[in-house]
Amino acid sequence: MTAISEIFSKICTKAIILLALLLIQLMLLIKKLRSETRPISTTQYLKLIEQKNPTISFTKRLKQEHVDCRVCLSELKEGQRVRNLKCKHTFHKDCLDKWLQQYWATCPLCRNQILPDDVVAKYRQLQNQVESDGNDEQINFLLNALRGGSSLHRFI
Ligand SMILES: [Zn+2]
Ligand SMILES: [Zn+2]
Repeated sequence: MTAISEIFSKICTKAIILLALLLIQLMLLIKKLRSETRPISTTQYLKLIEQKNPTISFTKRLKQEHVDCRVCLSELKEGQRVRNLKCKHTFHKDCLDKWLQQYWATCPLCRNQILPDDVVAKYRQLQNQVESDGNDEQINFLLNALRGGSSLHRFI
């Protein structure tokens, strides 16, 4: 009788561990699925900027109105890749793209909106998710600890 109850309790413990493992794996799966439907990636974000304000080559005509890129404060030269915004302010493409990724999507000079708020919010959401991805380490640690525990049980 005792032998049977011992076996039974061992099975129970294993079942509990297995269930916990499944639960954690399910949590990881949900997290992964959620990350796959992430709102807007950096590439998509830059693509949207490009659609609204296509990259152009800086020309003599533009030089009459613009002298410096106000992000890097260096002179705009003919042939350089620039973006001419709707507000008529011109910046180097790379300077502006960096700016737009770090700050809200507004013109560095006049704060005129470049992309709609919801697009920027979706992009920011992604940035926050990337920053909080460290949480996975805790889950992985727990998973390994449990795996270690279940292998121990095989020896008992
Ligand atoms: Zn610049
Ligand atoms: Zn502007």
